[in-house]
Amino acid sequence: MATGIEEPKMITEKNRALLQKAQGVFVGGVNSPIRAFKQVGGYPVPIRKGRGSKMYDYDGKEYIDYVLSYGVHILGHANPEIINGIKKIVDFGLSFGATHDLEIKLAERLRKAIPALEKIRFVSSGTEAVMGAVRLARGITGRDKIIKFEGSYHGHADYLLVKSGGVPKNFIQHTLIAPNADNGYLDKIFERNKSGIAAVLVEPVGGNNGVVLPNEPFLKHLRYITKRYGALLIFDEVITGFRFHFGSAADYFDVKPDILCLGKIIGGGLPIGAYGGGEKIMNHLAPLGNVYQASTFSGNPIVMHTGITTLKRLDLLKGSYRHLNNLVIYLSQALSQEAKRHNIDVSIRHFGTMFSIYFKKSGYFSLFHKTLLKEGIYLAPSEQESNFISFSHDKKDIEKTINAARKVFGILAERGRA
Ligand SMILES: *Cc1c(COP(=O)(O)O)cnc(C)c1O
Repeated sequence: MATGIEEPKMITEKNRALLQKAQGVFVGGVNSPIRAFKQVGGYPVPIRKGRGSKMYDYDGKEYIDYVLSYGVHILGHANPEIINGIKKIVDFGLSFGATHDLEIKLAERLRKAIPALEKIRFVSSGTEAVMGAVRLARGITGRDKIIKFEGSYHGHADYLLVKSGGVPKNFIQHTLIAPNADNGYLDKIFERNKSGIAAVLVEPVGGNNGVVLPNEPFLKHLRYITKRYGALLIFDEVITGFRFHFGSAADYFDVKPDILCLGKIIGGGLPIGAYGGGEKIMNHLAPLGNVYQASTFSGNPIVMHTGITTLKRLDLLKGSYRHLNNLVIYLSQALSQEAKRHNIDVSIRHFGTMFSIYFKKSGYFSLFHKTLLKEGIYLAPSEQESNFISFSHDKKDIEKTINAARKVFGILAERGRA
């Protein structure tokens, strides 16, 4: 590079061997595209172990983790209560395909925190939760069209991936995309489609296009307009559920969706999804109703147990969310100041325990990300992904991150002058 600043070489011996093997069996070496670090270039870091706010690669290097399995580990990695709980519960068997007490207990805990969930259906991923919710809305209304918003992500169902290869055009003909927080545009779509819209699907705080800050009046308008046209309002809270307080973002913003989807946090680190709502709505699902949705592993006892342990702990921690939110404010402000001090144009968006960093100049994020990794700071490998913090992160982690970022901004500034 002409600037004389070397791109950091992340890769060390055991990591390299492992990545090579992964390339041999997986497309791009991964089982989910973001893990390939394609947007930042360089090598992805393979992870051997997680503990609290830290992850460790195969060469034993430690990272402060702000990805947290893409928003799963709000208690941090390998929470001892969760791990010990799993060790005990596996003795009972791993899957029954039948009703059991743990799924009831988790559902009751969810409903206590989110009273709108009169009835709940557990599934095994956020994708399935959203698919179930949309099918339910279509079944109830007898309508086909749904509205989603630009840059949102709702899992990998065909009709929700309008830009992906392999999705037939007529699979997405009923998916209408609206710009974010544009009341007028939305009103027009509804006016044009009158009684054709089954549901509006929205992330109350966007986590898949950087952090998209919530717009309360817009969320309230969604409630108003869906009601007016007889459409259902679906909140995709796969990220936001239990992320800002002990409950839903819907309650946080005082908007009542008809169906609410959960995932990520509520499984405590194991695969989960859930959707629920008022009894009258949910009763349209089979076996009572005619909307079919089934799954072999739904309500898996081990997953239910980790979910219960997580919710128990979060219930005890519910007074501390504010502290966690304040840590993110502190971190975001410090990062902004450091960037400014070095004349680097960044936009840091944060809400609650989520934050994202966007560089105005192209190429900067990639170098920022790589150099921070070398400093032991593990950020999401894309400006489009949100970062998260957990109850395991402390002021020391944050200070270490700020110090590392200061150093990296210095490098970027030097590069900019060269
Ligand atoms: C992660 C995510 C999903 C999909 O969940 P999976 O468990 O990955 O299937 C859906 N919606 C939102 C908002 C998400 O962030």
